[in-house]
Amino acid sequence: MPYAYDPQNIFARILRGEIPNKTVLETEHTLAFHDIAPHAPVHVLVIPKGPYATFDHFAAMASAEEIVDFHRACAKVCEIVGVAPGQGYRAITNAGAHGMQEVPHYHLHILGGKVMGPLIQ
Ligand code: C5P
Repeated sequence: MPYAYDPQNIFARILRGEIPNKTVLETEHTLAFHDIAPHAPVHVLVIPKGPYATFDHFAAMASAEEIVDFHRACAKVCEIVGVAPGQGYRAITNAGAHGMQEVPHYHLHILGGKVMGPLIQ
């Protein structure tokens, strides 16, 4: 079962324009912005505009158009911030309690600008 979606979560509020963000790219179904507390020289969050709490919720419930738009936006973000083509990057998502997800709106972290180190630390 997908996680319940809370429309008051902070990324929903960003999408409604209630909280500012440093936008990298906006498309019909996707928004990408710089993380407010970056863990690397490049740290961009890519989020679908639809109400999806986690990766699995998005993958199971979003339309093909939303899913394609999201991933094409991710590729464009990598190009805009210079990590691909370039020195590479890490793309990760956290889900739920064990994933230590803080914001319950699906987001892909795109991290780069340095060697990222082991995946699990
Ligand atoms: O994957 P997780 O849910 O833990 O990540 C949430 C991310 O959202 C954090 O990296 C945090 O810095 C970021 N954030 C943000 N802008 C906010 C609130 C949180 O970029 N206003």
